Amino acid sequence: MQQPEPQSFDRVLSSMCTEPHPAAREAGERFLATNPGDPATYDAVASLEERAVELLATLADHPTPTEASGYVTSGGTEANVQAVRSARNRHDASDVNVVVPESGHFSFHKAAGLLDVELRTVPVDGDYRTRTDAVSAAVDESTALVVGVAGSTEYGRVDPIPELTRIAHDAGARMHVDAAWGGFILPFTGHEWSFDDAAVDTLTIDPHKFGQAAVPAGGLLARDAAALDALAVDTPYLETRSQATLTGTRSGAGVAGAVAAMEALWPDGYRDAVKRASGNADWLAAALADRGYDVIEPELPLVAASFPEPEFDALREVGWKISRTASGELRVVCMPHVTRGALRAFVADLDRIRA
Ligand SMILES: *Cc1c(COP(=O)(O)O)cnc(C)c1O
Repeated sequence: MQQPEPQSFDRVLSSMCTEPHPAAREAGERFLATNPGDPATYDAVASLEERAVELLATLADHPTPTEASGYVTSGGTEANVQAVRSARNRHDASDVNVVVPESGHFSFHKAAGLLDVELRTVPVDGDYRTRTDAVSAAVDESTALVVGVAGSTEYGRVDPIPELTRIAHDAGARMHVDAAWGGFILPFTGHEWSFDDAAVDTLTIDPHKFGQAAVPAGGLLARDAAALDALAVDTPYLETRSQATLTGTRSGAGVAGAVAAMEALWPDGYRDAVKRASGNADWLAAALADRGYDVIEPELPLVAASFPEPEFDALREVGWKISRTASGELRVVCMPHVTRGALRAFVADLDRIRA
């Protein structure tokens, strides 16, 4: 029987994942049969995970990357769930709440449901950034966590992280930054988002998005060990005494691939990728604006524009994988696999459809 083929990335404009770097593929395959969930047995991959955390902490400007706490999660969802869980476990109140902007990823809704915490959703301003006045009004003594997004899923916006961090800490809450997608882009921009820009407690940063690692490789980082300690449970049948991860057995391929991608690409390869992607996003934004569409100025390499449904459907019909924001705008994520040539072909198809 013929082997089924995965989709080609040629027309994928909707995904926050991308083609893994060849080194990530190779390392992932080599470490397929390892389980970092059992570090006393699989010690080689356990050391690789320490290296992954150190590299991620370097990207996120942790003051002492070798001492950062964290682990390679199954993705941004697990990292966000764990950040909420950690903050809940560390808070004195029995009924805690978490303040999340409406631009926050839906994983926070999963977290709230799983952990039985109240989610307080606050509005964004006219440029899709969290309104700090709304956060100030929403926090109280039962707020365990304030979430800021650094590279929002729909519009690629960066919240005012230093200001949100001050509000969180003044209220006795912890501060979490969700940089699942933006974390590998922001080091090359002037945005304030990192451990160095603010007294952020925890941060999500996913190698399997702009980091060009293979799925599954997300990342949870913490400023200090206490955040991870608050997640640890005893592990009676393993040689190690406790486990802070949400999953038990997990993929050594994800860990090894993440390290391989970061060692190959940090910092120059990522800087080049961000430069190319940003150039492409600006090019597409201009091409759409030229054709009369209302474009939301890209800040990170993600383009959103008001777009009529028949044109959207016609583009999907000819094979373009495109997606929409909750308000129905076209959303194109300029990931590393999205070339200028692909975008030219996309716009040419759009012109044909409009003719
Ligand atoms: C993609 C994304 C997530 C979820 O990550 P998964 O790896 O899909 O679980 C969370 N937050 C943001 C901002 C994201 O872009």
